[in-house]
Amino acid sequence: DALAALLEKWTPPQAEAKGSTKKVYVADDLRAAIEKGELVNYYQPKVAVTTGDVVGVETLVRWRHPVDGIIFPDQFISVAEAAGLIDALTQVVLTAAITQAKAWQDAQLALRVAVNVSMDNLASLNFLNFVADATATLGIAPHNVVLEVTESRLMQDTRAPLEILTRLRLKRFRLSIDDFGTGHSSLAQLRDIPFDELKIDQGFVHRAWKDETLRAMYDASLALARQLGMEVVAEGVEDRDDWDLLRRTGCDLAQGAFVSPPMLPEHLPGWIESWRER
Ligand code: C2E
Ligand code: CA
Ligand code: CA
Ligand code: CA
Repeated sequence: DALAALLEKWTPPQAEAKGSTKKVYVADDLRAAIEKGELVNYYQPKVAVTTGDVVGVETLVRWRHPVDGIIFPDQFISVAEAAGLIDALTQVVLTAAITQAKAWQDAQLALRVAVNVSMDNLASLNFLNFVADATATLGIAPHNVVLEVTESRLMQDTRAPLEILTRLRLKRFRLSIDDFGTGHSSLAQLRDIPFDELKIDQGFVHRAWKDETLRAMYDASLALARQLGMEVVAEGVEDRDDWDLLRRTGCDLAQGAFVSPPMLPEHLPGWIESWRER
């Protein structure tokens, strides 16, 4: 069926990286790609562990390269950041995601839409103004928009990004701390920035049920999020054993290949139907 076909086509990012020599893309390639509309958003479901409800999707960008095929973001996001193209990239991804959210909303599909935001986007008020305008124009409530910021970059920068995050939160956007456990954000930062959601990095989720060290990281992250009143997402849920650990430990949301790989938006309604029947 459609789901099986989708799963068959999907190669997990690491497998992809191991198998092929990586081509290096330069700023000019990427600038042209943005202009020609070659960036495409995929969406990966986030589901509630106890009820199975699909509560939202995370936007994951791919570059549909006319010659090289599908390029994964690990190969071009850092290029965009280094070349000063990340504001343009984020605006393209966000606009497409909000437009898609509007289409789902009109089709009675209530979903939160998450977008990955680079710390470089938070250097000025541009991003805040852009996301506020885009959501207001399309009639998407800010509390249905989740902005995911990677933990590893949180410490590096100075005050400006933290202030902009706080302002976004005051406008009721949902803030998510991504790849939790891989950075070293201080407890003070977690206290000062009102994150709504904490995503436990996939490296501490898959196989945590059988590895004591992973399990300790997973448990500590879950407990911290609980203490701070954040919703917890476990990433990289790859099999039934991973899923069962989330159930046993009361994790809120799950994301990963066991639920669904990222997919094109037109496949989402059909996928939700088959997920409900499962
Ligand atoms: P991330 O935000 O941590 O996203 C999760 C990554 O794990 C995605 O890789 C996803 O496809 C992959 N994944 C999903 N399920 C599983 C699973 O069960 N097991 C494993 N091992 N992996 C799984 P992807 O799409 O290649 O994205 C890589 C990273 O690129 C993302 O990590 C995010 O940091 C960044 N990224 C993606 N889209 C954007 C974007 O639009 N803007 C920015 N600034 N960064 C982006
Ligand atoms: Ca993310
Ligand atoms: Ca992550
Ligand atoms: Ca990651």
